[in-house]
Amino acid sequence: MLKKIQISKPIIGEEEIKAVEAVLRSGQIASGSRVIELEEKFAKLCNADYAIATTNGTSALHTALHALGIKQGDEVIVPCFSFIATATCVLMAQAKPVFCDVKNDTFNIDPEDVRKKITKKTKALIPAHLFGQAADMDKLNKIAKEHNLKILEDSCQSINAELNGKKSGSLGDAGAFSFYATKNITCGEGGMLTTNDKEVAVSARNFRQHGKSRETGYEYESFGYNFRMTDVQAAILLEQLKRLEAFTEKRISNANYLIKNLKNLDFITLPKIENRYKHVFNQFTIKVDEKIRDKFVSYLNEKGVNAAVYYPKPLHLTPLFKDSVSCPVGEGLAKQVLSLPVHPLLTGEDLDYVIKAIGDFNA
Ligand SMILES: *Cc1c(COP(=O)(O)O)cnc(C)c1O
Repeated sequence: MLKKIQISKPIIGEEEIKAVEAVLRSGQIASGSRVIELEEKFAKLCNADYAIATTNGTSALHTALHALGIKQGDEVIVPCFSFIATATCVLMAQAKPVFCDVKNDTFNIDPEDVRKKITKKTKALIPAHLFGQAADMDKLNKIAKEHNLKILEDSCQSINAELNGKKSGSLGDAGAFSFYATKNITCGEGGMLTTNDKEVAVSARNFRQHGKSRETGYEYESFGYNFRMTDVQAAILLEQLKRLEAFTEKRISNANYLIKNLKNLDFITLPKIENRYKHVFNQFTIKVDEKIRDKFVSYLNEKGVNAAVYYPKPLHLTPLFKDSVSCPVGEGLAKQVLSLPVHPLLTGEDLDYVIKAIGDFNA
């Protein structure tokens, strides 16, 4: 039988099924007590004062930009190498995404290039903590302070990641998380916004619910959307949260095993992890020469190893943006990267199979 090792796999057990059943039997199936409990637990996890649940990571990013005061005509600096929503959320806020290059070794936004992209109109930056490792928030926070910019962390791939012992989602002015099926914990579709700023939290809560204000007796005070999470999703996530630490540890140990066994292959560049970071490996992303990348990915897929390319095109070159800005590092990475399976359900045998398949490749 041909081996089939998937790039990601949701882990849903009896606990999640029972929790959903309890919600369905309770009659309270929209946003209710499960969502409130989830928000409290999530805020605690991130060491943030507030957490606000939304429908998905994209709506969390959109809500956060609104709550941070981003408006039409503002510029927001985003990395050119990320998932599309890191940039489209800026369009949702009617502002302009300004594409910035990334670092060749960490794949994360390059603080030096951020400095070059700042104009009088710049109001915020959105570092994406790509593949599970935080961006260089020490440098970015310094730049933001100097130029009076807000920082929205795109933490969609980095729940439980840390920098200097501090959690992703508590490193900037606000953080946005996703619980899509490929993320480190999931409920199918879901999102979360974190912040330590009370005003941002209040504005985000109102925006999530049609602009309805709790503070002034439930008036519709401002424009808003319906971005509410349901108790069905929250019940799944409350179970997932209990297992987050175990999931994270397994991802890290899988990654360490891959690193140990691939480090002697000179056609591969392994992910760079500095000491002050805790990388949670939503993806295990390596680089190979662009001349062999596509051939290598096809070879692995034929062997039943579901390697995938995140991301094959930098955001500024998508048909949506067609932006003439030059980001040479991001443009190069799009041709060199591929991600290998690293999820918690991989067995030792699976990992050895992946390692052997890679070793057998005729580079
Ligand atoms: C998944 C993801 C998003 C979007 O989250 P959704 O829940 O799919 O809307 C945004 N940014 C990054 C970096 C992501 O990985």
